[in-house]
Amino acid sequence: HPVLSFERAGLTFPTGTTALKDIDFDVLPGEFVTVVGPSGCGKSTLLRVASGLQTITDGDVRVATEKIGYVFQDATLLPWRSVRRNVELLAEIAGVPAAERAQRAADAIDLVGLTGFEQHYPRALSGGMRMRVSLARSLVRDPQLFLFDEPFGALDEITRERLNDELSSIFSLRRFTGLFITHSVAEAVYLGTRVIVMSGRPGTIRADIRIPESHP
Ligand code: ADP
Ligand code: ADP
Repeated sequence: HPVLSFERAGLTFPTGTTALKDIDFDVLPGEFVTVVGPSGCGKSTLLRVASGLQTITDGDVRVATEKIGYVFQDATLLPWRSVRRNVELLAEIAGVPAAERAQRAADAIDLVGLTGFEQHYPRALSGGMRMRVSLARSLVRDPQLFLFDEPFGALDEITRERLNDELSSIFSLRRFTGLFITHSVAEAVYLGTRVIVMSGRPGTIRADIRIPESHP
């Protein structure tokens, strides 16, 4: 069963702009689908629809889980909390029992390679490391679906490439299911088990390409 499915979904804003038209695709468990297209083609709107923040005006969208992990560009970490306490807070919000929070946080921190940095504060970390804390925060909820809104967009090219490597090894280990928005074709092809290419005005799917042998 798909974790996420769009069926001829469309969205026309009250302004008259049609941001999405005839969007038709499923995300199956274990698929990591990247969505690439130029600025303004409707990628963010697609992600907001998947997350339930935005309602479509045509067709149908189904999300088969409530356990969604979000990773955004601006890592909204609390500066007065250590890495460990930033991650534990999300466990608390997600309703993880108090007795399990510390272990869950430690596991998530380990998975993103931040063991040893638990007591650091966000300001003492580089952009790339803060991004990993964001990823750890989303992992602690044990999500069935990850939504990424161009998480590496603000980082320099070298850090971005390294994080692509890290993300791909983290995700290949666990076979996580995800939808990842980016304007970089290289990033989309590198990370995706499947790449959806969008074009705008109105936002439609131009191509839906399976990438063989991804996540080496
Ligand atoms: P992308 O993420 O690919 O850059 P967006 O999803 O942000 O594209 O935008 C798609 C189109 O929808 C653009 O033409 C944008 O101006 C328009 N749009 C986005 N949000 C709104 C809104 N709340 N009201 C009206 N138009 C919007
Ligand atoms: P990234 O490119 O992932 O943001 P950096 O290039 O800043 O990371 O750091 C590379 C390595 O340096 C990290 O993997 C980490 O081991 C170490 N490092 C980074 N920031 C700190 C810090 N504040 N204290 C100690 N070691 C750090």
